[in-house]
Amino acid sequence: MQLEIKELSKTYSNGVRALKGVSLTIRQGMFGLLGPNGAGKSSLMRTIATLQEADSGSVQLTGLPEGTSMPGDLDILTQKDAVRRVLGYLPQEFGVYPRVTAEAMLDHIASLKGIANGRERKEIVQGLLQKVNLYDVRKKNLGTYSGGMKQRFGIAQALIGSPRLIIVDEPTAGLDPAERNRFHNLLSEIGENTIVILSTHIVEDVTNLCSDMAIICLGEVVATGNPNDLVKDLTGKVWQKFVEKSEIDTYRKTHRVISTQLKGGKTRIHAYSEVPLTDFDAVTPDLEDLYFAKITEKMEVTTV
Ligand code: ADP
Repeated sequence: MQLEIKELSKTYSNGVRALKGVSLTIRQGMFGLLGPNGAGKSSLMRTIATLQEADSGSVQLTGLPEGTSMPGDLDILTQKDAVRRVLGYLPQEFGVYPRVTAEAMLDHIASLKGIANGRERKEIVQGLLQKVNLYDVRKKNLGTYSGGMKQRFGIAQALIGSPRLIIVDEPTAGLDPAERNRFHNLLSEIGENTIVILSTHIVEDVTNLCSDMAIICLGEVVATGNPNDLVKDLTGKVWQKFVEKSEIDTYRKTHRVISTQLKGGKTRIHAYSEVPLTDFDAVTPDLEDLYFAKITEKMEVTTV
């Protein structure tokens, strides 16, 4: 089973070109879609989730196994109802009804998803509440839940109906580290026979979870592949130096600075260069270096 996105483009009525010929192949497991705010991640996620139209291009979900509601191939842009039967979606903005309990809400959503048998529904709902670790608070109103609990509830509702394609848009924004950790563990358990697309601007989410990824910026794919392989390509090209804060702007003019970080009162610069930089030390690159190298390259090319 895989998702094949080809040359997908979208321009909003205000003239913003949110997607410019996006092509990606997404296989089973966790796929990280990384990009800064405004990159086009949500536009892409909403299109795949059948919630908005693209102007051109195609999205195919191929090789759905026997036993799913629609075995074979699905055209996401035209077979919307069939796609919705195999789709689980956790949107960026996730409102909950504050005076409804988690258990009642999940039961209601399961009915909407076509699970008509009450006993079957109850079994599914109880199972999901246990899976996302909300069983003990299942009779509490959703309005009393913390951010992390709401996100876990969101995952539970997205998992109803055993979806084969799960889309999670910016899930960890606003979660504290412990809640984020719990959420990561939960996501990593779903991966196996499912395509899970995790859209985020947080590099660490992808480092921890994803076997495949893409970086998008200004509506275009600027890198895609296995995170470790992509980072390996950067070896020998990232250099580090500690400088005074006031010197950063000067360095920006003479070097391709990909990131700056305050460390113990000094500012650490990471710069990209294919040849060694005088007075800089070599560093082993990580995903964050890759991300910023790709983003700054794209931004530079666009603004020149
Ligand atoms: P991301 O999820 O990566 O932050 P979005 O897909 O939300 O990116 O946005 C991509 C671009 O499209 C941004 O410039 C954003 O302002 C614009 N945009 C998003 N949704 C709309 C819309 N409904 N109408 C007009 N412009 C939009």
